[in-house]
Amino acid sequence: MSNVSQQQSSLADFELLTEVSQLLTVIDLDHVLQRVIDLAARSVGASKASVFLHHQHSDKWQRLLTPRNLDPKETVTVVQSVLDKGLAGWVMQHRQGTIVDDTQTDSRWLVFPNDTKPVRSAMCLPLMQNDEVIAVVTLEHPEPHHFTDHHLRLLTIITNQAAVAVRNAQLFNQMLEHQRQLEATLHAIPDVLLVVNDAGDILLASDAALELLGLESQEEVVGRSLASLLDADSAFAPLQDVLDHPVRNDETRTYETRSDRKRRDFVVMATRWENDFGGTAGHVVVMHDVTQMRDLNRFKGEMLKMASHDLRSPIAMIVGYSDLISMDTPDPNSTIHEYLKVIRHSTDRMQLLLDDLLRVEEIRTSPAELHEPTDFAQLVEGVVENLQMVAYTRNQTVEVEVSLDGLELLTLDPALIREAMENLTSNASKYTPEGGRICVTSYYDDRRVHFIVQDNGIGISEHDVTRVFDWGFRSKKHTGQTIEGKGLGLSLVKTVLERHGGEVWVESQEGVGSRFGFWLPR
Ligand code: ADP
Repeated sequence: MSNVSQQQSSLADFELLTEVSQLLTVIDLDHVLQRVIDLAARSVGASKASVFLHHQHSDKWQRLLTPRNLDPKETVTVVQSVLDKGLAGWVMQHRQGTIVDDTQTDSRWLVFPNDTKPVRSAMCLPLMQNDEVIAVVTLEHPEPHHFTDHHLRLLTIITNQAAVAVRNAQLFNQMLEHQRQLEATLHAIPDVLLVVNDAGDILLASDAALELLGLESQEEVVGRSLASLLDADSAFAPLQDVLDHPVRNDETRTYETRSDRKRRDFVVMATRWENDFGGTAGHVVVMHDVTQMRDLNRFKGEMLKMASHDLRSPIAMIVGYSDLISMDTPDPNSTIHEYLKVIRHSTDRMQLLLDDLLRVEEIRTSPAELHEPTDFAQLVEGVVENLQMVAYTRNQTVEVEVSLDGLELLTLDPALIREAMENLTSNASKYTPEGGRICVTSYYDDRRVHFIVQDNGIGISEHDVTRVFDWGFRSKKHTGQTIEGKGLGLSLVKTVLERHGGEVWVESQEGVGSRFGFWLPR
């Protein structure tokens, strides 16, 4: 090659590289690929060029810009056979470019029945990213021995640059896809969702949030301060607390709220999200609409009150008439008195059950008096004393491990907490055979006060243990009335603890014993 033509070729190569590097700023993937093969074909005088692009998140390959104009189904077949047995497959395997000087003698070149224009020589190169082949470019020419080593070197440089451009465009596409997914999610979720940055400005809002605010589009809410929503609807009132006391790292704060305007009830949950340095980047607020559940609950409460009220009169009638029959039966040895005793026992049980049902409902619906500064240790002491009396009659041993010295007064409803403790201790005695052992433990840590009752009684099966706190649940084994109960005690304990922001838990093994416990926030 003469000096002049060498200089011309270098200049052309340089221009080519400049054109390829300009592709780095293009974000339309199709456009990038089209430009890559156009430039590649032009730079080496190829008659045709094609590219197979690897699908990012699957094993699939897609062929773009096929000169054969195949339908998509056929394309898949062609791509697969070329990758299995053909030149592109060889390039994939060896991760390097190669030249086919003569397609008639090189077995790597596959001829397809509908190939109209003859191809005599070819060149094929991979586009590599992090050691992975992300695409394969194939160039063709009707004459044999068209492609040279210089072409191969030049195109290796081009494809290296092109790989970066393709990756950029793929990342951009990925970002768009994520954005579309996010938009679809925000559209689909029925909950009010607000994502807020550290400065308290809204970054994202779900459609349900827009609806509650009476707004049409994201643009109307994005950028607004969370504080500005406080006046928009009474349901946003808990946000004031989130603004005043940012949520801690491991905390999910829960509130209950109501939109007076929309007559809807919500459970609000606020968590924080972190930036790259572990600091608060902002908050995520989710408001779950529980109106239906609340309505059902209200309805259930009403029904319960009505039913128990309506049941009291017939029970009173049965009791009254039983007494009359008893009076009219002077013979004290008559079996009628035996029958009447059974009737009386049953009506007493029914009355107690009604009392308990109403009591649980009352606790559930009435506001708890959580304002009384209470000596928790004293409560535990009283409960243990009662347990010792009951246990004594059943020949059971009671162990006590209480370390509550130095605990400050807790603000709670002492009557309810005492009732909850007594439910656990009386169950422990009730469901432990005579001669058994019950251990009461109570202590506190930085944030919580704990109360635990352990017994070595009959235990609870794996199947039942998840249901013991359900309203009215009794293990099938006791429904035969070997051990009396109504299945309301633990549901009451759960309600009481929830009202105090605490939690009740259980661990149990059938035949071995149970551990019931709860914690209260300090
Ligand atoms: P009740 O004792 O009136 O049936 P509870 O709500 O207090 O109702 O308890 C629900 C069920 O949980 C009981 O019927 C029993 O099957 C089971 N249970 C509660 N405490 C214990 C315990 N300490 N050991 C074994 N089973 C228990």
